[in-house]
Amino acid sequence: MKAAIHPKYYPKAKIVCACGNEMTVGSTIEEIHVELCSKCHPFYTGKQKLIDTARRVEKFAERQQAKDEKGAKTTGKKAKTVKRAAQKEAKKAQKNPSQLSEA
Ligand SMILES: [Zn+2]
Repeated sequence: MKAAIHPKYYPKAKIVCACGNEMTVGSTIEEIHVELCSKCHPFYTGKQKLIDTARRVEKFAERQQAKDEKGAKTTGKKAKTVKRAAQKEAKKAQKNPSQLSEA
């Protein structure tokens, strides 16, 4: 080995996973933090697990919630049609209530 050109080698470098698993390997970096390891990767566990590093699932849920809240008080074409249909029904019932009871 040539002198003074190699990085420091740690024969007992620690790898820490987000799931809490730790292992020891040889590396030039003393401590490495990872998001996945063989103890928690879906391929090895056989369980379906969401790996959400870009917050995509959270963002989608947020968008859906915002949409639902907005949808509750919409005044769009569909909301108007539904409202009008309800009014028509009410008027019909007022004009001839006997028809409703017969049907
Ligand atoms: Zn892990």
